[in-house]
Amino acid sequence: MTTTIDIIDTRVPGTSAAHAAVPTGDDDTRWITIVWSTAEVACIEFELGDITHGGPIRYAADTPPPVESTDDGDWRPAPDPRCSACGSTYGPLVDVLDGRVRGRKLAEVALGIARDAAADRAWVASRVTAHLVDLLNIEATGLIHGSTSLDELPTVMEGPGIPAVVRDGDQLVAFTHVADDDIIEVRWPMPTPLPEMVDDLGPFEDDDDDDDEEDDEI
Ligand SMILES: [Zn+2]
Repeated sequence: MTTTIDIIDTRVPGTSAAHAAVPTGDDDTRWITIVWSTAEVACIEFELGDITHGGPIRYAADTPPPVESTDDGDWRPAPDPRCSACGSTYGPLVDVLDGRVRGRKLAEVALGIARDAAADRAWVASRVTAHLVDLLNIEATGLIHGSTSLDELPTVMEGPGIPAVVRDGDQLVAFTHVADDDIIEVRWPMPTPLPEMVDDLGPFEDDDDDDDEEDDEI
């Protein structure tokens, strides 16, 4: 439990910090500094479109994340929440420092958190993009082989559930939203639907060979 909390500006976008007075073992209090990412983080399966997995968690700039004391009297971030569907833990990055850290030292720690959060988001984007490519490949293959038709593909105006593959002019577009409402989309050229049967392209000059088969006869 914390008793007093002062929110501190780190100057680093996407982060915030707080000085918190926390109880010590001998009924006194001492100061710690909590630094955290204000970005949204969700279970990766949720980001890939399965909303039965854990949705976004965000600690606002004026809302420090929970912290807890260790057996030896130090303080640390509380464990990340666990996704109820797959059991993996996920959450915004949090750091806890002794004392009231401020100024350049605080900015250094916040910058490290912002960099790690950016790396995490890039990893999510790479997973999501790979998933979108898989979805595009399925649709393109269906169109190429004639098992699906262009008419079955929605346009973005029809508001399909995400992740979605839509047609946009002469392109196929797969798109979705990830945490913090960023949109990721992948565009492919439209595979030209081919006629299902060679007969659709006929008739051909060699269709009626019965009359002049001399060339084929020995
Ligand atoms: Zn999950």
